[in-house]
Amino acid sequence: WSSYDFSWTKELEVNNKKVFGNHSFRPNQREIINASMSGCDVFVLMPTGGGKSLTYQLPALIHPGITLVISPLVSLIQDQIMHLLQANIPAAYLSANMEWTEQQDILRELNSDYCKYKLLYVTPEKVARSDNLLRHLDNLHFRELLARIVIDEAHCVSQWGHDFRPDYQGLGILKQKFPNTPVLALTATATASVNEDVVQALGLVNCIIFRQSFNRPNLRYSVIPKTKKCLEDIDKFIRENHFDECGIVYCLSRMDCEKVAEKLQECGHKCAFYHGSMDPVQRASVQKQWSKDEINIICATVAFGMGINKPDVRFVIHHSLPKSIEGYHQECGRAGRDGQHSSCVLYYTYSDYIRVKHMLSQGAIEQSSMTSGYNRSNMINSGRILETNTENLVRMVSYCENDVDCRRLLQLAHFGEKFNSSTCLKTCDNCLKITSFIEKDVTEIAKQLVELVKLTGQRFSSSHILEVYRGSLSQMVKKHRHESVSLHGAGKHLAKGEASRILHHLVVEDFLWEEVKKSDFYGSVSSILKVNEPKIHNLFAGQRIILRFPSLVKASKPGKSDA
Ligand code: ADP
Ligand code: ZN
Repeated sequence: WSSYDFSWTKELEVNNKKVFGNHSFRPNQREIINASMSGCDVFVLMPTGGGKSLTYQLPALIHPGITLVISPLVSLIQDQIMHLLQANIPAAYLSANMEWTEQQDILRELNSDYCKYKLLYVTPEKVARSDNLLRHLDNLHFRELLARIVIDEAHCVSQWGHDFRPDYQGLGILKQKFPNTPVLALTATATASVNEDVVQALGLVNCIIFRQSFNRPNLRYSVIPKTKKCLEDIDKFIRENHFDECGIVYCLSRMDCEKVAEKLQECGHKCAFYHGSMDPVQRASVQKQWSKDEINIICATVAFGMGINKPDVRFVIHHSLPKSIEGYHQECGRAGRDGQHSSCVLYYTYSDYIRVKHMLSQGAIEQSSMTSGYNRSNMINSGRILETNTENLVRMVSYCENDVDCRRLLQLAHFGEKFNSSTCLKTCDNCLKITSFIEKDVTEIAKQLVELVKLTGQRFSSSHILEVYRGSLSQMVKKHRHESVSLHGAGKHLAKGEASRILHHLVVEDFLWEEVKKSDFYGSVSSILKVNEPKIHNLFAGQRIILRFPSLVKASKPGKSDA
């Protein structure tokens, strides 16, 4: 597909330069355009900032007829249309919350013999819920003017994805109605199961798949233990590494956003907060101040993100545990779009896992902006979705608990991509601190921990179990007379953090599970550890548990290879 011999090659080159101002194509762009213009269905996996828009806007420009683009978010669409109109490419959009007369004008134009639009953007509910639009599409198709159907953010189709959007599931109808019109599906997030789901739901039979590495070499990743001093740590990190530069601090709750923003303001940073319960005018104003560099730092829920194209975001900090690796990768991806070095720092504590898990079960987590405006709580509470969300969350915990493997390798493995960690060049915390690791058989310790959970009646939290195991004589331990349990102090000899890592591993691998207890009067959450009997059976029947531990060396400066 990389050939220069297509009938449209010349026109492609000329317009890429003249209209879009690009000197060349980025990886895969030419190939995607050639495949799509040849009439094939195409599925594109390209990281954020890779240049997906050009792959349909350029064909739309030089191909007769209209390109239909389905995109999840009106603000994203408006941004695209603004750019298209600036480049003198006629484009319009239809969305449910538009004036009726305005919609009629656009539909009338679609009906006209010399329809001026090259691109028509619509939100997915328009396709799912408007027969009127479908009739107009029929009509365009009949007149051979429906050139191509583009599905942006295609992962929204999948329930396995982190941004499931019900109206996307109805998009399969397009391929049924217009089997010969080429479909181009685009996404920046893609695990294998999500991909399969998307291809199937959209009815793409023999589609050509383009995927490129999701590695972002200019981003540096680290996971840092979250302590009570977290806010001071964040202030210090920004001050020392990114003072007066632009960044995002992702927080879990609306209250967290405000609290973190207030603290950073006190520390002298130009900072604001952003979340779903602010009114649209307020939100737009914050976003505007941010893009004009009047504010450097935004403390936000994941509602802030989609449609942000600021190129010089120098850091993305996660104040709390993200809810999936996919989401995390995408949130980090908002840093360094200009290709310059940028930092991604995640503050992690196991207790955030309990908190997020509880919030998921309550449907209390703010979703990314694509899905906001929908009542997701029913969906979140319903069985399969909750299960998927919990699974995604556990994987995220496992990522954070891992202090051995290259962060890039871990993230990319999640997308089914192989990565040679020697090419990380010490741009993640794990690669930076480790030159070698040791594998340790921790089966006996694991068994003791399980035994201890049972001995204490499966009624206590992981931190309590760890206290007893390490031989603490705290009030809580004494209150329950756990100093007299046979395994009290059995883990005394272990290095700090070792027992907790093994215990958390047992949760991640489903030997134990956390039952999140109803929040108390003050809204705090607690959890107790329970035993998963069938899995435990394997453990006591001879299954071994091997974990890797770092053999630490003195850290060198980031970014310098020791090759
Ligand atoms: P994505 O949708 O994949 O996140 P965009 O389509 O928004 O990415 O493109 C990201 C940026 O890259 C935009 O500013 C766009 O103008 C620029 N871009 C895209 N293709 C090229 C190219 N071939 N050469 C130079 N810049 C490009
Ligand atoms: Zn690494």
